[in-house]
Amino acid sequence: MVVGEMPEGVDLLVVGGGPGGYVAAIAAAQMGRKVVLVDADGEEGLGGVCVRVGCIPSKALIELASHVHAQAAWHGRGAPTPGSDGVDLVKFQDWKRDVVGGLNSGVRGLLKRAGVDVRRGWFRFTRPDQGALVVDADRPPTHLQFKSCIIATGSRPVELRHLPFDGKRIVSSTEALELAELPKSVAVVGGGYIGLELGIALAKLGSSVTIVEAQETLLPTMDQNIGNLIAKHIKEFGVEVLTGATVTEDTGTKLLVEGPDGRLELEVDLVVVAVGRIPNTEDLGLDALGVEPGPDGRLQVGTDLLVTPRVAAIGDITPGPALAHKASAEGHVAAAVLSGHLERFDPTTIVAVVFSDPEVAQAGLTAAGAAAAGYTAATASFPISASGRARTMGESTGFAEYVYDEATGIVLGCTVVGPHASELIAEAALAIEMAAHLDDLAGTIHAHPTMGEIHHEAALVALGRPVHIPAARRRGPSEGGTA
Ligand code: NAD
Repeated sequence: MVVGEMPEGVDLLVVGGGPGGYVAAIAAAQMGRKVVLVDADGEEGLGGVCVRVGCIPSKALIELASHVHAQAAWHGRGAPTPGSDGVDLVKFQDWKRDVVGGLNSGVRGLLKRAGVDVRRGWFRFTRPDQGALVVDADRPPTHLQFKSCIIATGSRPVELRHLPFDGKRIVSSTEALELAELPKSVAVVGGGYIGLELGIALAKLGSSVTIVEAQETLLPTMDQNIGNLIAKHIKEFGVEVLTGATVTEDTGTKLLVEGPDGRLELEVDLVVVAVGRIPNTEDLGLDALGVEPGPDGRLQVGTDLLVTPRVAAIGDITPGPALAHKASAEGHVAAAVLSGHLERFDPTTIVAVVFSDPEVAQAGLTAAGAAAAGYTAATASFPISASGRARTMGESTGFAEYVYDEATGIVLGCTVVGPHASELIAEAALAIEMAAHLDDLAGTIHAHPTMGEIHHEAALVALGRPVHIPAARRRGPSEGGTA
């Protein structure tokens, strides 16, 4: 700071306008704080990766792909010819821009009404005593002196050294979601959340898709059975899955892959690299605060989310899954903690959802996690094939599996694989959060015919009184795993 220059005093400063930052800003304003939110893209940045190039655009593309695919499937089942003339991705992109634009202006309006001052600029800590600088190309830099600060700068796609992004042939999910023309053939590197969601959507739209995954199964962080079940299902609509395989080189027309059966050459038009995300913690001047990110670029925080007594970190830059709803939940907690409330972040029920086909959703503890936590963990599962509602949708792949404590009957975790798993998991999350007993789920009258009945049915399985499947599916603590 130039000698004599007066910094501007800020009560609570939020850095980043994504689902972590904007929620934290609103929550802090509701607690009476005077909030300034700084985002490198100003108001245009509001909603962050989630609204602009992540959750929302990807779900729009998946929705389109599912409709196109379902229409074809229904035609096969004897439904009238749909009269579709193919997929117009230019038209889709226009519509998607409207959806994204609408949500971005919605967030702008919410922040305005909450009295949050949104500014554009690159933020950097400058001094240990809450000094910071905001630099914007169009204006002189602003010096700030904040009382409290919440860092919510998010993450960006990992780039592979031997497959650098060129924005055309080798792209991240950002460009893949902006396609104006459907590629004939696509290789997706990485069979995690993004690889599956994008790969399946493009295949349903008509591209020939190969997913290359380095680990032994798709979704390697989840139970192996889930990845195997998805691999089998997506083969039915033409997705090729190569597991235990890595890409060694791209020649400009061919992708060279080293797999368990030797070397393969994939002739593809587009390569989507989806091998994870890295936190945006560089260039923030964290050293001025005396704070250093870990080797993975994340900031270590406790349940109070503080990195110093006056600075909190939330979202993808902190440990845990890089999920929008985790960032938002942390935003509430950080705003409260920095405003003197005794709030703490509880990660127990961070729901994970993969919008694959079938969808995958998990909440709470896995059987292994529950056993490790000292519970007498048992599991009970109900197959989607036994759900009348699923059958009316032409669906029979998947299951609902509850993890519970055999000693008390308390519900600890749930996995749903199947149609609408992303919505169905909410009931399980609430049950886990409220420490519900299996009897609560079994005793709740669920409407028939609905997918929601799977919760009731799985609880009946756990209680040893299944109605729509034979009684043998209940498994005790020693057996564990996913049915
Ligand atoms: P991911 O961690 O989910 O999956 C990356 C996959 O790439 C892993 O399976 C990994 O084994 C594989 N991989 C790593 N290096 C590889 C290599 N060189 N060759 C082949 N495979 C390789 O990461 P992602 O799919 O990029 O998504 C990033 C994060 O974004 C996710 O972890 C998730 O937190 C978030 N996300 C969430 C949603 C959702 O909530 N539905 C959707 C998309 C992304």
